This record gives sequence, C-alpha cells and structure tokens, in this order.
Amino acid sequence: MTAAAALVLVLGACSGESGAFDESGGSGDPADEAAAGDRERPARPDDDPTGGAQPRAGPDPGPSTVFANRLWTERPVVDLTFDLSGDPGTVTGSETVVFRPDRRICEVVFRQWTNKPETVRLGNESTITGARVDGRRVDPEFEALGSPATQGSLARFPLPSCLGQGDRVTVDLRFKLTLGRSTPERVGYSKDLVWLATAFPLLAWERGPGWAENPVVDQIGEMTTSEEFRLDSLRVVVPRKYAVLGTGRHRGREAGPTQGTAVETFTAESVRDVAVTAGVLNTVTRRLDGVRVHVGGPRGLKTRLGVWADRNIRAIKRLQALLGPFPYRDLWVSVLPDCPTGIEFPGAIQYGDFTTNHRIYDKLVAHEVAHMWFYGLVGNNQGVNPWLDESFTSWADYTVNETRPPPLAGLDAAEDEVGRSLQWYAQPDTRDEYAWGVYEQGAAMLFQARRAAGPGVFNRLIRRYIRRNAHSVATPADVRRAFSGSPQAIRVLREYGAFR
Ligand SMILES: [Zn+2]
Repeated sequence: MTAAAALVLVLGACSGESGAFDESGGSGDPADEAAAGDRERPARPDDDPTGGAQPRAGPDPGPSTVFANRLWTERPVVDLTFDLSGDPGTVTGSETVVFRPDRRICEVVFRQWTNKPETVRLGNESTITGARVDGRRVDPEFEALGSPATQGSLARFPLPSCLGQGDRVTVDLRFKLTLGRSTPERVGYSKDLVWLATAFPLLAWERGPGWAENPVVDQIGEMTTSEEFRLDSLRVVVPRKYAVLGTGRHRGREAGPTQGTAVETFTAESVRDVAVTAGVLNTVTRRLDGVRVHVGGPRGLKTRLGVWADRNIRAIKRLQALLGPFPYRDLWVSVLPDCPTGIEFPGAIQYGDFTTNHRIYDKLVAHEVAHMWFYGLVGNNQGVNPWLDESFTSWADYTVNETRPPPLAGLDAAEDEVGRSLQWYAQPDTRDEYAWGVYEQGAAMLFQARRAAGPGVFNRLIRRYIRRNAHSVATPADVRRAFSGSPQAIRVLREYGAFR
C-alpha cells in the first residue's frame, strides 16, 4: 500500500504527460475507445474481458517463471472458487489446499485477514462455514488474535496424527464473505462492482519459522504473510453482465452453474495471494515484451484506462532497469473509485480513481508496481517486517521518479525504528508515525546506504537480494546476508534500526 499520510509529503508535481509506449492494444482497441467515450460496453456472455488481446490456447510459458530455480517445488496447491452471483455484498467460497510441510506439523493453520479491525469496522467479515481434513469433517479452533468481534483471524485444524516432512494433507474449506459497501480497503462492493483481495482463508505457513501467528492490528496497511502456492484454479462465478479481473493467466469464460451466470477461470504458476475484481467493467489490455497489462474499472473514471495501462507500463520499464525482470506475465490493474490510494498483490494492483496530474500519481504507480518485486516476488511477513516491502518499495518509487524523500519531520518515537513491526507501529504513541517511520525514513535509510556503499555496488546488492530471495518469505537476516559485501551499507541500516 501507499500510505496516504506519506503521500501528502510527496514533493514535486506529476508531469501530466499522457505518454505512449510499446503497446499492441493501442488507441484502436475497442475497449479503450469505450473507456475513452461515454458509451458503456457491457460484457456479453461470450466476452473475453481482456478485450481479445489474450490468447485462450497454445503453450503456456508460465506466468511467474523469473528465477524459476528458486521456486518451491513442493509448494502448496490451491483451488479456489468465489461465487458472486447471489446478493450484492455477499460472497460464498470454497477452497482446497494440498500442503506438504517442509517440517513436522501436528495442525494446519489458516488466517482470515479480512477480519482485521479496520476492515471489520467498515462492514466486512470472513467466516469459515465448513472444513474437512483429508476428507473427514473437522471443527476448527478459532482464535481472535486481534479480531474479537468475528470468528477471529486464525483457525487451527487439528490433525489426527502429526505429519512429517513431505507428508501430504488436503484441507477443504467453505467460507462466506460479508462485504461492506464502498469500503476503502482491499475488499468491498458498490453498485455492479465487487473487489476481493486476500479474501479467503490463507494457509499461514512460512518455511523456516512455521505458522505465522502475528496478530491482526488496528493500523492502515498490510499485515499478511504467505508462501507462494500453485493456483491450480481460480473460478469466479458472476452474473453474466459482469467482467472479471483475476490473478495469473485467464483461462476463459463459460456458462455458469445457474441461469444468468458465467464462470471465469484463472491459473497461476506461483503466487502468494489472490485478487479479483468483478462488475460492469470497461477493460484494456496492452503488452510489453512478454507482459500483459490488463486494466479494468467502472465507467466514469477520471483517467482513461489506456492511460493507466501506459503509465503502469512505463513504471514496469523503469523498474526493470533498476531491479531486473518483471516478475509476472500478467498484471491485473483495477481502478476502484473507493480505493484511497493503492494496494498491491502478486500480479495485481488496486488503484484509486486519480487524475494523472494529481501530485501523487507518478509516485503511486511506481510504488505499487515496485511491490511486484518487494512483496510479490520477494515475500515478507508484512506484519512482522513491514520495512522489507515498504522501505524498499518507497526507495524504488523515489528512484525511478528521480525524486527524494522529504526531510524526516514526522518522526518522534519512530526515529531509528525502521525495523519495528506493525504491532509496534499500532500503539497509541507510534501509530501516527507509521508512514514516516517505515516509508519515508526507510527510503531515506536506503538512499544513505546507497551513498555509503557506492551506487554501483548498492544496485548490484539489491539485485542479489532479489535473486537470492525470489519466491520465498525474506527476513531482515536475508537483507544482511545479501548486503554482506558492503559493511558500509550494513552499518547505515543498523543505525536506522532496521535489524532488531
Ligand atoms: Zn506500499
């Protein structure tokens, strides 16, 4: 996420240029034309929501194959279904997870991140309604873990007998989502529009530490963690008039299970979360080398979808030059009027409805696209080590926009506390300093580390950190190891409190 509080501090205006980049959709794209004019182009039952730019057949090169040698070969396999065909604001879902732990376990733990306090206050709730472990019905043990008003944020599924490394367990879940109207967060709904992200029980495993049991806390921002999994299928059941933006590769549209419905299917080789937007949408798809950028949103947006596509492609190009290859073959961009700034997911982004000359626009786009490397490709526990995604991403967005963090005027308790958890940053005397402490101070720290190490060395070490930690959940120790070639940089990070 781009912290709104941090963004207020952004110096320098956006360029306002519309920009034209490598694109195959171009201004002749019928969906683009629809977005540019007043005419709505409603989805039809046989519509391809990608505007025809996406092939439906042929060999699949794999959606996330950068640094394929780093993929967890025994990663979990997830089949997920969201049914949006019922009442507005209510979603039913089912999920099957096949999991082979890399060390001994005696329970399986899932997290319901939708139940974090801020999201619940806005009318959203996730409830597990049924569970089977290896085909046998089980009653999970629910724990509030920061979410007392709901079923809780954590669910434990006891195993009849413990499993050893590499043993296999299959968990089948059914769940229900209640959505808040116009929620300025990752889940919500409005008229003919539904957005869902991290909106299913998420397996809480981290290779190494094991089950992630950090609480949900009352603070704006992300706090999830997940290893990557193979998204064997993502099925989204919608009213026929809806188009769907998903995660990974679009596999097509078929008639739904009941009259008047359709089902869209997606797959992904390796992702750590899932985002879906569905509704009466306009869509545009553009290509950059091997990357398809799909942009969708409701009619009446302030900025044309084709411009959003161009600006995201520009950010991809600039960030690739800095960080290495873009991690995904498909990037799904949702422009949502209720989204306050931007929220990142693996291969998907939710943006607010901004004009390109808004002072945060260029920063916002670069920031969210940079999260495809820092959180998408190189994962982290966002609740325990938020600086691992937000500090690096803020540094990257300033770098590619050729700007710098402002003077660190908003720091008091958070001075030299870059490496604190979101729980620490949710306390009464530090909660207002989160954006300053992690985003701005973290970016300033990395600029100073770059000066200390030398720009060439620093950029090489950043790439080494990405390469070595691709497709995993990184920790501060991984940063220390990757940057071990520059004691000067390590010293700066230590002085700022990055290593606790
Ligand atoms: Zn962010």
